[in-house]
Amino acid sequence: MISHDILVVGGGLAGLSAALAADTRLSTAIVSRVHPLRSHSVAAQGGINAALGNSPDEQDDSWERHAFDTIKGSDYLADQDAAELLCEKAVPAIYELDHLGVPFSRFPGGVIAQRPFGGAGFSRTCYAADRTGLAIVHALYEQSLRRQVKVYGEALVTKLIVENERCVGVVIYDLATGQILPVRARAVIFATGGYGRVYLKTTNAYINHGSGIGIAYQAGVPLKDMEFVQFHPTSIYPKNILVTEGARGEGGYLLNNKGKRFMADYAASAMELAPRDIVARAIQMEIDKGNGFDSEYVLLDLRHLGEKKIQKRLPSVREICIKFLGLDPAEKPIPIQPAQHYSMGGIDVNDRCATSLEGFFAAGECACVSVHGANRLGGNSLLETVVFGKIAGQEASRHLEGLERKEPGEKTLLDEALAERNKVEAWMSRTSGEKAHRLLNRLKLVMSEKVGLFRTKSELEEALEEIREIREDYGRVCLSGICLRYSQVLVNMIEFACMLDLTEAITLGALRREETRGSHYRLDFPERNDADWLKHTLITLKDGRPEVSYRPVRITKYKPEERKY
Ligand SMILES: Cc1cc2nc3c(=O)[nH]c(=O)nc-3n(C[C@H](O)[C@H](O)[C@H](O)COP(=O)(O)OP(=O)(O)OC[C@H]3O[C@@H](n4cnc5c(N)ncnc54)[C@H](O)[C@@H]3O)c2cc1C
Repeated sequence: MISHDILVVGGGLAGLSAALAADTRLSTAIVSRVHPLRSHSVAAQGGINAALGNSPDEQDDSWERHAFDTIKGSDYLADQDAAELLCEKAVPAIYELDHLGVPFSRFPGGVIAQRPFGGAGFSRTCYAADRTGLAIVHALYEQSLRRQVKVYGEALVTKLIVENERCVGVVIYDLATGQILPVRARAVIFATGGYGRVYLKTTNAYINHGSGIGIAYQAGVPLKDMEFVQFHPTSIYPKNILVTEGARGEGGYLLNNKGKRFMADYAASAMELAPRDIVARAIQMEIDKGNGFDSEYVLLDLRHLGEKKIQKRLPSVREICIKFLGLDPAEKPIPIQPAQHYSMGGIDVNDRCATSLEGFFAAGECACVSVHGANRLGGNSLLETVVFGKIAGQEASRHLEGLERKEPGEKTLLDEALAERNKVEAWMSRTSGEKAHRLLNRLKLVMSEKVGLFRTKSELEEALEEIREIREDYGRVCLSGICLRYSQVLVNMIEFACMLDLTEAITLGALRREETRGSHYRLDFPERNDADWLKHTLITLKDGRPEVSYRPVRITKYKPEERKY
């Protein structure tokens, strides 16, 4: 049986950071459903935040100012001590990445270049042109090779194994062999990323189904603040490929069908660089008012930046537009619309990345520390993956120091894998029934139409009802005639159960939260309500049903006030 001290699930930036930070005397491995270099982190374009103060006229930036912007951006739902930790550790984290070989773009004097991003009072987003995620993942992957971290690629984790209230391993579906096997571990770290693909329109990769979040929930670990779903303002219409916020950071304009920079009506001083929740809603409102094009999109205009600057600072955006739209942004504005982008909520962890289940940790987008609260600022997610990924690796190692070296019973591990295998065989033995892909499309449609940018009680109730109906139909799915090796149908089927759980949690959290805060906009409760709702939502699976509870937000020195930009 495969056996390690620490098993990191996910080979994106959070997973690589965790594996690199684990104590070298321990045996650490990564298991990932795709090769680490194909994780969604490589798609990150715009950059990573840290108050380096490198911009020539902005040298008095500080981590405290970064923390303030993050907390204000979060609509005061972030735990303030966690946001402070993130921002304080940001500066050394960037220098560490620099020393590990990340090719950051530079200002003429040689210091790391920084660009303005939404909701930030200073230019503090460090970048490698518009391929920042790719550059960082490659550098960390190289380090993981140097450290000889074992990687099991093409293996989907389907379940956490728990014995005596302690996490002792996982079950994997090994795509290459088609086997379903147990893997023993003394500590497990989930770094499984976001769930964008539960929506029809998303900037996320096809692998982002959020199964890690669902697996944790099924093991009894609470999910936190799931109702907060980020919609990015600028995804290319109609493909929904992202155009980085860096495009507006470099000076891009948003224009409606009258040629007006309409952000003047929504955020007069920050304009296009207001936080994402505000800009995404403004775009959708313009489209709904008839000020868009074909009732679908508005324009992002970069022409005034000039071809030279676009090519130097935004080469991928230009290439994507030329390849996918046949349009050169140096000559024509880009059609854009909002699309799901990021998950602020996730597996409930403390600021040491520990969950309520002993031996089980989580970091990165799948986790909710919470540093982003109700709305994440651009550039803060890459930062979270490296800062909290590292903490997760260190904390899991520390946890093992105090733990007696008792191996968990082999029987528990084998039994759990067998149960998973039996489940799959039951699906395969059915000769008729629902088709999984049809159900998946139904689920995405419900989420997009009823749990999107604007929400109401009646639509959320309908969505909840429909999700529960889809769950019943899921119980009748037939997978006959599939081959177990590299079966994408089986992967989808396994992940679908997780998607049902997490969409239910998103919708239930959104229905209960009768206020508007950050990305959660209730048309029937359009104001923020601190008296009743300055608290985190926790959803826990109890006796097969979701149970909702709340926890106060931790405030240090930033008094909640109205957000103005
Ligand atoms: C297009 C795009 C651009 C972005 N740009 C920026 C930016 O400029 N700045 C910024 O700060 N943020 C940006 N973000 C957000 C940021 O990139 C992500 O939040 C972050 O990279 C997530 O990293 P992660 O390590 O948590 O997860 P990912 O990089 O998504 O990795 C998840 C890993 O988990 C594995 N996995 C998942 N489920 C399973 C399972 N069940 N079994 C086994 N393995 C599993 C996957 O194989 C993968 O290796 C962007 C996001 C997108 C989509």
